[in-house]
Amino acid sequence: MIEVKEPKRIPFVGMLQGMFTVFKHLFKKPITVQYPEEKAYTPPRFKFRIFLSMDDCVGCTLCEQVCPNLSIRMIVVERNNPHNKRNLYPQVNFGTCTVCRNCEEICPTEAIYLTHELETARTRNNFFYSPQELEKTEEEVKK
Ligand code: SF4
Ligand code: SF4
Repeated sequence: MIEVKEPKRIPFVGMLQGMFTVFKHLFKKPITVQYPEEKAYTPPRFKFRIFLSMDDCVGCTLCEQVCPNLSIRMIVVERNNPHNKRNLYPQVNFGTCTVCRNCEEICPTEAIYLTHELETARTRNNFFYSPQELEKTEEEVKK
């Protein structure tokens, strides 16, 4: 049978190490930011807010079909677009979108795509963005 030896413990060393760790952090700058006045760093390849070019959308409904969260729903928007005879355009629910990018990858005309924009603002539990809102930047939507 193998005998396991207990390591020798020097009194107070662990306690002093803990105090030293806490002491070090007293002089470090906090990593939190005062949002929304300060913006947190977002990596250059970060993607979230979906945009739609209604002129390029042909209403094929592929984006709706590949969305795993049913976040895309096609709606009718009367618009003079000869490529979209059924007048079908996607609206997106950002409350359930998990940024999988399936819609962007399946779109045959690159009409729908994710951008670097991070913030979406909605009230009354409505996170749906209409096709017309998807064409605008977030600043334009808020106006
Ligand atoms: S990114 Fe994914 S989850 Fe979000 S709307 Fe597109 S397909 Fe749906
Ligand atoms: S956004 Fe693209 S995939 Fe979706 S309906 Fe329009 S053309 Fe089809």
